[in-house]
Amino acid sequence: MADPKIFNFHAGPATLPREVILKAQAEFADFRGLGYSLLEESHRSKLFIEIQQHTEQNIRELMGLDDSYAVLFLQGGASLQFAMLPMNLALPGKPMLYCDTGHWSNKAIKEAKLFGDVKTVYDGKASNYSHIGDPADWVFPQDASYAYVCSNNTIYGSQYRTFPDTGAVPLVADMSSDIMSRPVDMKKFSLIFAGAQKNIGPAGVTLVVIRKDLAARVGAKVPTMLKYSTHIENDSAFNTPPTFTIYMMGLVTDWIKANGGLEGMGRLNTAKSQALYHCIDDSAGYYRGTVDAADRSQMNVTFRLTSEALEEKFVKESKAAGLIGLKGHRAVGGIRASIYNAMPLEGVERLIDFMHAFQTANA
Ligand SMILES: *Cc1c(COP(=O)(O)O)cnc(C)c1O
Repeated sequence: MADPKIFNFHAGPATLPREVILKAQAEFADFRGLGYSLLEESHRSKLFIEIQQHTEQNIRELMGLDDSYAVLFLQGGASLQFAMLPMNLALPGKPMLYCDTGHWSNKAIKEAKLFGDVKTVYDGKASNYSHIGDPADWVFPQDASYAYVCSNNTIYGSQYRTFPDTGAVPLVADMSSDIMSRPVDMKKFSLIFAGAQKNIGPAGVTLVVIRKDLAARVGAKVPTMLKYSTHIENDSAFNTPPTFTIYMMGLVTDWIKANGGLEGMGRLNTAKSQALYHCIDDSAGYYRGTVDAADRSQMNVTFRLTSEALEEKFVKESKAAGLIGLKGHRAVGGIRASIYNAMPLEGVERLIDFMHAFQTANA
């Protein structure tokens, strides 16, 4: 495996396993002896159907999904799911319950309001999204269409440790930025979705896992392409699916399986994030974490320096040192290190060394 010259901390599209990039390169022009590229292959061919089935099988194994769930490869990003979800699942007269932990759940709430009554069960705004707390304390009225969480807040840097028990109300999650980063009991969830470009592949495909019986809820007036049932009935090939991205997701999930599955990812992500938070907490206030310690994300580590000028210098000099993508999201500023599955421990160690040296030079 070639040594990468840089470590990529971008929030998404994000770093991919080096082995996966090299494997895709090796079979790019002549796919497994075919004589042409997979990019040029029909989505209806036996070859491609087998590739998609392989990707789906990996996802089923890794996430522990039985036949009551459908695995779908859709387009339009996680952002289209914000609308598709209420279009398919909102029941007349039954509110949709949302837990607001920041930017992405806000966007989801905005779309849901177009299709019915939204009740906010948890509102993190008052704490400027620095806090999630214990979801066991939240109250979920049982006459609701569904309940919604965003498992990891990519921008503010918070993450659920445990998920709420919503009783008979189906639980839905946007897992775009922490999917397959740790073991999760999928039986708790009726639907999850994730844009691939943070943890499981390149941009261009949205993974949706949905309980099949739930997909039957959809009303007659929903356009064909926006019904989950359409994509279930057609194995995600109602129209042309993003074939190359589905293939890449197959390679990434092969890599996850070869590296200990979700338990392996969980161990690695705990080790990386703990090392980085330790560096922040040990800096005598030079670096300041922005989220309550108990709710800190293992994927997006957010922190501030003592001035914006220093933050700018930090971003500039880290980039020169081969550590790219550390600037915080434009909505919140500061520094954000996105350390998804494919970020090796070595990359985090390099960042920590840089942080120590920067503090010494600029204290
Ligand atoms: C990135 C992100 C999105 C948006 O994904 P798109 O695929 O660009 O629509 C939604 N939710 C979360 C949690 C994200 O991190």
